[in-house]
This record gives sequence, structure tokens and C-alpha cells, in this order.
Amino acid sequence: MNVYDSLRMADVLAPLGYAPTASPDDADMVILNTCHIRERAEEKVFSELGRLRLVKEARAAEGRQTVLAVAGCVAQAEGKEIFTRAPYVDIVLGPQTYHRLPEMVALAARAGGGVLETDFPAEDKFDHLPESAAAQGVTAFLTIQEGCDKFCSFCVVPYTRGAENSRPARAVIAEAGRLVASGAREITLLGQNVNAWRGAAPDGGEWGFAELIRAVAALPGLLRLRYTTSHPRDMDAALVAAHREVGALMPFLHLPVQSGSDRMLAAMNRKHSVADYLRIVDELRAARPDIALSSDFIVGHPGETEADFEATLALVRRVRFAQAFSFKYSPRPGTPAAGAPGQVPEEIKDSRLQTLLALLRAQQEDFNRGTEGLVLPVLFTGPGRKPGQLSGRTPYLQPVHVQMRSLGPLSLIGSEAEVRIVRGHPNSLQGVLESEKMLA
Ligand code: SAH
Ligand code: SF4
Repeated sequence: MNVYDSLRMADVLAPLGYAPTASPDDADMVILNTCHIRERAEEKVFSELGRLRLVKEARAAEGRQTVLAVAGCVAQAEGKEIFTRAPYVDIVLGPQTYHRLPEMVALAARAGGGVLETDFPAEDKFDHLPESAAAQGVTAFLTIQEGCDKFCSFCVVPYTRGAENSRPARAVIAEAGRLVASGAREITLLGQNVNAWRGAAPDGGEWGFAELIRAVAALPGLLRLRYTTSHPRDMDAALVAAHREVGALMPFLHLPVQSGSDRMLAAMNRKHSVADYLRIVDELRAARPDIALSSDFIVGHPGETEADFEATLALVRRVRFAQAFSFKYSPRPGTPAAGAPGQVPEEIKDSRLQTLLALLRAQQEDFNRGTEGLVLPVLFTGPGRKPGQLSGRTPYLQPVHVQMRSLGPLSLIGSEAEVRIVRGHPNSLQGVLESEKMLA
């Protein structure tokens, strides 16, 4: 989502004459777009700011100004504190105020810095941002929903991104159309709770997420559609049916569960049980038998016992994931879990994380090996690491490197072609082009 937000900030600054540069040394303005979800996020920002301060001073010595801005969720959470600790910062802006950047730049020039915009504005930034202009390439991101009303015990998102808010279907479809016109063949719909999307339908009624998926998937020229991140609570029957029926919807789903213990899920305020999660997995697999599943896990949430952790391992063994992310619980300021009793010692978190990572890594490797010998459609996204190689993704999101034989490799970028998978490595696949006949 921050990648997408950064592009939209570039869109809003383009009319002022700003264009991206390769290095901060050449930049009249530097925006640090930050994430606050885990682990010492603030510290990383302040150490990066320390480096940028030197750039700003070096440029000033040459008579060049540098506007320094901090955007994103650390800006939202830290606010004024950023000016206290780094007075050379000019602008601090939260994620809901990007459309106001031109005003802030003007204000910073007049006032010599100190511009703070972290209130949640009454207007919707999406209504005030210019149409997205940046061509993102073969695969593109599109934010359709932001914010969260679920308040999981550990999570800072409801405080930094604000209340759940869905963009109207018409705006989403129009932006998706522009992305396809500028070369996108795959779009990933984004949201903190993307499947909670519920918005104005083009005809004035209301749509749920599955209806939006069907409408975007129908865009001519779009080969693949994905979405992330979903919450188990919002996986409804219509969405499961879309996985059965919509060809462009890829057989891959990132569906975070966090823990395999009902006691922990309750402490986390997740509002779903292990049985709910397993039922959804069964339904998805019935609808789309080859669907690859991914998840997020937190180990060492306050109160987690060895038995709770064992229950997480049992869930992983039962579901079998194609890939997953696991994190040590990290107390986030202002969230309920941060002050809860039963904080788990760091060494225990470490050892649980290693155990879980090893299991998930083994499952990912099994999944990748399991595709050896199959012929899969691969969407080529760019040149590979070695000469004559192209890289792309399978429907299951696995990166594939393909050694080209006769075809000029670059001509396939942006196309789907059938690839025979010859090797499944832990993190990627190796394949050969089955026939040089393009599928699309
Ligand atoms: N909305 C999604 C998750 C968004 S945050 C959901 O509900 O599933 C992305 C991931 O960061 C979460 O799934 C969680 O695993 C992790 N995360 C969030 N807060 C965390 C914290 N305080 N400590 C460790 N991991 C955290
Ligand atoms: Fe955070 Fe996701 Fe829970 Fe919302 S649903 S509070 S984004 S973990």
C-alpha cells in the first residue's frame, strides 16, 4: 500500500514540476514514506532522517534547498514529536492527507518548515487526488479500501489509517482501466481489509467485494486479478464463488490467521475461531482445488503459552501453506496488547519464531517442488538475472526464471506463456518455455 501511496504522491506533485530522481542527492524534495506496523519503526525513521540531514546540509552548502517530508503511519503516530527530534524536517503528513501536499509544500516554503498534517480530514483524499498517471508496468497495485474498524489487540492500523473506507466502484473500475491502458496485465486490489470492501455500485446501488471483482476482471486486456489483505471474517460465500467462477482471479489467497489457538484468537480480538478459519479453507479448496494459501502469524502475543503455540503448529500442519509470513509480537504504543499482562520473554518469542519459520519454510519448499513437471501459465514481468533469462510469476505467485531458447526474450514481457517447471527451489522455480506460442 505504501508503494501505491508513493506513486499517488508523485501524481499530486507532478503539476508543481516535481519528477522522481534516482538519488536523494539530486532531490529538491525527499519524502520518507513510513510503516508503523512492527519493530522499532520509529528508530528506523530517525536513523534514516539522520542520513538525510547530511544530504540536506551538503546541498544547502551548494545553495540548493531540500524539502524534507515524513509521510505514512509513523508520521501519523509520532506527529509533532518528529519536529522535536528532527527539527530539520519540513513537513509531517499522515496517510489521509496526501492530496494536500501541494499546499503543504507552499506553506513550508513560506514558513520555513514546521508543517504538520495528521488530522483525519473531512474530505476523502481519493476525491481530491489527480487521476493516477504513473504507468506501473505489467503488474500494478490499486488501493480500493483503507482503514480498519476491527481493532485487533496488537495492531496499530485502526489508529494510523483510521476508519474503514471503501472507494466507489466507478472510481476503482476507471483507475483499473487506466492501468490496463498503460500496460498492466495483472492488478492487485489493495486494502488493509480488502475483502471488507463494500461500496457504491456504478448504477447507484451497493456492491460487495465479489461484485467488484467480477467487474474489474471483465476489463478487456486484464489477464490476472489478485487482492490483499483479507480478513477471515469477511470471506463470504459470494467471494468463495468468485474464486470458482472468475477465470482472471488467481488461485492464490493471503488470508492471515495469526494464531492456531482459540484462546489467543480471543485475546487478540480477532472475532474468528480456528474452526471458522478451517471451514473457510475447506470451502475455498472445494471451490478452487488448486488454490495456494498464504497467511500471517504472530508468535508471543501476551499470554501465549507453549500449548497455544503448539496449536499454531498444528493448524499449519493441517492447512499446509504455499507461503507465509511470521512475526514476533511487537508491542505497538497505544494498542491494548502493549500494556497487557503476560508479555512473553524475547528468548521464547525467538525460539517459537524459529520453530514456526522452519515448518513454514518446509511447506513452501514442498509446494514449490510439487509444481515440478507441471506446465503452468507464467506472466512475464521482466528480464531475469542471467542473460537470455526472463522472470515472471505462476498463478500461485511463485517467481519463475525461464531460460529462453530462440525467441527474443523481451518480446514476451507482458504476456502469458506456458512454462514447464523443471525445478522447484525454496523461493523460486526454474522453467522452460513449453511452446513459443503465446497464450495472450
Ligand atoms: N488486516 C490484516 C493484517 C494487516 S497488518 C489482517 O487482519 O489480517 C499485517 C500483519 O502484520 C498482520 O497480519 C500481523 O501478522 C502483523 N502484525 C500487526 N501488528 C503486529 C504486531 N504488533 N506485532 C507483530 N506483528 C504484527
Ligand atoms: Fe490490524 Fe488487520 Fe486486525 Fe485491522 S483486522 S486491526 S488491520 S490486524
